[in-house]
Amino acid sequence: MKELELKRKIKPTVLKLGGSIITRKEKPLTPNKGVIKRLAKEISQARAEKLIVVHGGGSFGHPIAKEYGIAEGFKDKSQLIGFSKTSQAMTMLNKIVVEALLNEGIPAIAIRPSSFIVTKHGRIENVDWSIVAKLLELGLVPVLYGDAVIDSAKGFTILSGDQLVAELAIELDAERIIIGVDVDGLYTADPKVDDSAKLIRKLSLKQLKELKDEIGRSKLVDVTGGMLGKVNELMRAVMHGIPVLIVNGLKPNKIYKALRNERVVGTLITR
Ligand code: ADP
Repeated sequence: MKELELKRKIKPTVLKLGGSIITRKEKPLTPNKGVIKRLAKEISQARAEKLIVVHGGGSFGHPIAKEYGIAEGFKDKSQLIGFSKTSQAMTMLNKIVVEALLNEGIPAIAIRPSSFIVTKHGRIENVDWSIVAKLLELGLVPVLYGDAVIDSAKGFTILSGDQLVAELAIELDAERIIIGVDVDGLYTADPKVDDSAKLIRKLSLKQLKELKDEIGRSKLVDVTGGMLGKVNELMRAVMHGIPVLIVNGLKPNKIYKALRNERVVGTLITR
C-alpha cells in the first residue's frame, strides 16, 4: 500500500528522446552529439521536477538487433553474441546521454531495463517500479532506454522505448508524456514521403482511433514507419488519462517549451 501511495504522489513527467534525434540513423553507432548536448541544456534550463528520461536506440540498437533477429526471440546460439552486442551498444548510448545530462548539472542516473524488466511475448510483465519511484522522489532523474531483454516465452526480445514510456507513465501515474522525434508531430501521413501530409495539432483518443483505422485501411500502412507503433503504445497511456505531446526534438527549444508547459508546435493527444 505504501508503494502505491508513493507512486501516486510523484506525478512525474516522462520525456522520450527518440533514436531519430539522438543518433544519426543512417550511420551505425553514431551519436548526434550536438543535439544531445543541446537537449541536455534545454532540460536543465526548463528545471522540470520529477522527470524520467527514456531514450530510443536509433543507429545504436536497431542495426545489430536486426542483424541477429533479437526481436524475434532465441532460435539458436549464433544470436547470443548479437544479444550481447545490442545490449552493449545501448549501454554506450545511454552513457553518452547520461554524461550530457550530468554536464548540465542534472542528477541523472542510468537504469538498465534488462536488469529488472522481463517481457512475455514482447510485453512487459511483473515489474517492480519501486526503485525508480524512490529515485524520483529523491529528485534524481532516472534515464532508461529501449533494450534487449529476457522474455519468458521466447528467450529474449527487444523492448521498445515507446512501450517502456507508456508502461512507466501508467505505473507511476505520470502527469504527462513528452515525445521528441525528428518531425513536428503526428501527421495525416508520413511527412517524409508525402508532401500533402498535414500536421495534426490536437487530437482526442476517439479521433486517434479513427485516424489509425484510416491509415490502416490505406496503403500508407507500409510507410508509417515508427509512428504507428509509437501511437499504438502511447494510446494505452492516453486511455489512463495521461496526455501525450509529440514535438520536434531536432528544432531548438521545442522540448524546452514542452517541459515548461508553454505553447509549442506539435501534436497533443488527450483522452
Ligand atoms: P524514433 O526512432 O525517434 O522513436 P521513429 O523513427 O520510430 O522515431 O518514428 C518517427 C518517424 O515516423 C518520423 O521520422 C516519420 O518519418 C515517420 N512517420 C511515419 N508516419 C508518420 C506520421 N503519420 N506522422 C509523423 N511521422 C510519421
